[in-house]
Amino acid sequence: MMKRIFLFLFLSAFVFAQSQENKPMKDKPDSTNKKAHKVFKTDADWQSCLTPEQFYVTRQKGTERPFSGKYYDYWEEGAYVCVACGAELFTSKTKYHSGSGWPSFWDVAIKESVELKKDTSLGLSRTEVLCSKCGAHLGHVFEDGPPPTGLRYCINSAALNFVPDKTKAA
Ligand code: FE
Repeated sequence: MMKRIFLFLFLSAFVFAQSQENKPMKDKPDSTNKKAHKVFKTDADWQSCLTPEQFYVTRQKGTERPFSGKYYDYWEEGAYVCVACGAELFTSKTKYHSGSGWPSFWDVAIKESVELKKDTSLGLSRTEVLCSKCGAHLGHVFEDGPPPTGLRYCINSAALNFVPDKTKAA
């Protein structure tokens, strides 16, 4: 009799253990949730880690003077990352000479890395481009770019940092 009870308890424990193992992970973080990854800082925090011009452009939606930025006529191979949070935004592969006086790209590096927002400031109807990780204002996108996209991402140098492609270094 005792043997049977023991066997029953043993089997119950085994079945219970198996059922636990196959349970889905409920608390797994959702890596597709952009908001959970957003970098948030106060204006004072941003001011302490950005130059006045970088702060003006990225946090106050400013625009640098054309032909004044360090990347409008810069043609090294590499990546352009957000000056505020370091997220990869553009690459030299899609950079082109638009003649506008601002760095211009016909595509983004990773689609999810930028957010587009309607901007009606200055009495114009434009599409603002922001860093989706930290919300930094980057510039605007226009539909007068070259093939294959026909887009012109008109981006402030002050919103970018260039990271050279080490495999191309001599
Ligand atoms: Fe950013």
